[in-house]
Amino acid sequence: METVIHKKTENKTTPSRWNRLADVVLQGGKLSRSEGQEILQSSDEEIMQLLAAAYRIRHQHFGKVVQLYYLKNAKSGLCQEDCGYCSQSKNSDAPIEKYRFLSEDDLMRGAKQAAEAEAKTYCIVASGRGPSDKEVEHVASVVKNIKQEYGLHICCCLGLLEPKQAETLAAAGVDRINHNLNTSRRFHPSIVTTHTYDDRLNTLKVARNAGMELCTGLIAGMGEEQEDILDVVFELQELGVESIPVNFLNAIDGTALEGTNDITPRDCLRILCLMRFAHPTTEIRIAGGREIKLRTLQPFGLYPANSMFISDYLTTTGQTPEEDFQMIADLGFEYISADAETKAMMDAK
Ligand code: SF4
Repeated sequence: METVIHKKTENKTTPSRWNRLADVVLQGGKLSRSEGQEILQSSDEEIMQLLAAAYRIRHQHFGKVVQLYYLKNAKSGLCQEDCGYCSQSKNSDAPIEKYRFLSEDDLMRGAKQAAEAEAKTYCIVASGRGPSDKEVEHVASVVKNIKQEYGLHICCCLGLLEPKQAETLAAAGVDRINHNLNTSRRFHPSIVTTHTYDDRLNTLKVARNAGMELCTGLIAGMGEEQEDILDVVFELQELGVESIPVNFLNAIDGTALEGTNDITPRDCLRILCLMRFAHPTTEIRIAGGREIKLRTLQPFGLYPANSMFISDYLTTTGQTPEEDFQMIADLGFEYISADAETKAMMDAK
């Protein structure tokens, strides 16, 4: 029996196994579903080798750069949807701030904070099933001013979009729409019943048709199976998205998923590595739940991922920007602000 285990270790889990897989991916090969499953089921002893192999892929396409995103909750709470993970849902009694759409001045102040925090992208996020036409017009008018004043990339997360709304946002200069798949088609009804998985896919299609980039990812740790995570990972391949946020459930008290706590920091790293192997050239962001789920292992997440949020999340606080900058510096990594990127582009001309 011992011999068999030893053999299995040699064949399946030697340190070079992940490097060989990285070689395949670096040469343009695609990760298979069974290889993805092996990543999710890899042992704790292999974590460092897995991270090192994922880092080779990250480094090839993104070097040591960390892209920083800054979130602004433009409208908080008051939502009639029932997303089980969300503190702003109609079923949540989490004690959060509730307010209607922020004014232009408030959104401009947020953009200033994003620029000061060296973020490259300012994410304008609003609670609700989808925006009214008036809200879309409001965002469109602010975005034009933000771009003029700060040159930030703009990503909007406003819920389900109609084609005309997407066109208005695109015309105003919105670069990207965020609308997460969150989980698999199979598990989706266990998490939300007021809209469907197809509603989500449709908004992504509408945003793409309007010419905007897509930012869409998942929330891990909601009680899903590994198969559900694999479903999302490979669905995202089909969609060919530009940016993938990987959230880890921060089960806020008062939400339907309160008390759910079924992934370890090592699981979080495996999921980030899986995402990198399956999406070698796509921006992958460690998103919500970074501090609380990766805990002391959070710097390791930046070996597979090349992006993160700076400062706070929608209704929860993150570590301070100073701690984030220190973490990036300690890793020997670097970040590029929107200002620096614009300057580099001008210099290159
Ligand atoms: S995720 Fe969005 S749509 Fe769902 S409950 Fe929260 S605010 Fe509403």
